[in-house]
Amino acid sequence: MDSRKNRLRTIPQVDFLIRQPQLMQAQTHFGSTRVVSAARAYLQHLRKQLLQETDREVPSLKSICKAVLDQLEQLEKPALYRVINATGVALHTNLGRAPLAKSAIKAVVTAAGCCNLEYDVENGRRGSRNDLVEPLLCEICGCEAAMAVNNNAAALLLALSTLSPGRHVPVSRGELVEIGDSFRVPEIMGQSGAVLTEVGTTNKTKLSDYKTVLNTKPTGLLLKVHTSNYRVVGFTQQVSVRDLSVLAKAHNVPLLVDLGSGAVLEKSQYSFMDEPTVPQILADGADLVCFSGDKLLGGPQAGILLGKRELIEQMRKNPLARALRMDKLSLAALEATLRLYRDPEQAKRELPVLQMLCTSKQELREKANTLLLLLKHSDAHAQFSVLAVSRPVGGGAAPCQELDSFAVAVMPQTMSVTELEQHLRGCVVPIIARISEGRLLLDVSTIETCDFSLIVDQIAKIGKESAQ
Ligand SMILES: *Cc1c(COP(=O)(O)O)cnc(C)c1O
Repeated sequence: MDSRKNRLRTIPQVDFLIRQPQLMQAQTHFGSTRVVSAARAYLQHLRKQLLQETDREVPSLKSICKAVLDQLEQLEKPALYRVINATGVALHTNLGRAPLAKSAIKAVVTAAGCCNLEYDVENGRRGSRNDLVEPLLCEICGCEAAMAVNNNAAALLLALSTLSPGRHVPVSRGELVEIGDSFRVPEIMGQSGAVLTEVGTTNKTKLSDYKTVLNTKPTGLLLKVHTSNYRVVGFTQQVSVRDLSVLAKAHNVPLLVDLGSGAVLEKSQYSFMDEPTVPQILADGADLVCFSGDKLLGGPQAGILLGKRELIEQMRKNPLARALRMDKLSLAALEATLRLYRDPEQAKRELPVLQMLCTSKQELREKANTLLLLLKHSDAHAQFSVLAVSRPVGGGAAPCQELDSFAVAVMPQTMSVTELEQHLRGCVVPIIARISEGRLLLDVSTIETCDFSLIVDQIAKIGKESAQ
């Protein structure tokens, strides 16, 4: 007991500690309040440790100072930072889904200050934030009216609670989607006040199933949910948007299609995958379509609702619209993203998501070879090779399609592959990669060429550190 007490006595006092040269210097940068509280927190932690682990030695004054400095620096780091996506998943929900186009990033920076968010500058009176994106959405998708809210879950919630409170909404049992991160169609419907009425079975739903509900229950609208992240295959049947729209018209209720991923160009522009497009669904007779801004559209988090003017107007007037509205930074990014779509070629050239998905196999092979050469010429302690791989689109789009890609496979010589993967996550700019068959894969389809040198430097450094 005594020796324990003695050890505790040798721990420096806060006042003494903060007068050490390193920490005096730190105070000019971090301010004395933060240095004192970091020192106090560390000493408390140290005391606890020494009481628990009786054979632990009291660290030197120098290493105590260093620990305090490390902690100060750790606290300085923002919680949200850049990472390099080397997974090959273009729409990676955990990595922020769609990376924005350069013009969208610029627009966000501009809007961060004062801007004309809800001000009609020309006439000197109040304006509407919806006017910033509605004309573009109508032009690109060929619809009467449009609005944007916080995300697609919000779009669905707003549509259901505006158009069908207390009334039935038949949905096919094959379309009761869970998107992940707690978005479940039945739960959203519950929140909206609409009454979910499941129709059909998991694999088969017929037009007559919807008819039965329309004929027997007060029905607010018909909802079709795109099975974005799964497919029901085999002995299946679903009712087409076209057939549903005829039925909806006959019963004078709107047809809402939740498309999820939101491809807005002509179908032929998405040769890499088979997903329904927004213009196609509208042409098939949907009265309203909703989709995410940060999936195939390649913009910021947003939920876009478009279609019949009368319906959009009703939703705009719902008090809930205010709670679900977009902020100026996202609106700025959305506007800039939509502008690119006025010219499909420009959209494909400048939107990172479309670039990642459209790049040809040949180009990806060359890209992988470029990275391979750079890595081979570095003095990294590892073996490298180029490998043909397949990758999903991600973001709950095209679930059954794997796209071709190439990866640089890394076989470290001084550590295990799992350790390498951890090390890469610990880099100044973390590199998120995947492991397959005992190799670490850097899929080049989602890596920007301008990040190659950073990746090479970081990998070379890891090899050295552990070789020492
Ligand atoms: C992704 C998705 C959603 C949820 O969209 P968020 O923008 O993430 O809220 C809803 N419905 C479908 C069909 C989806 O694919």
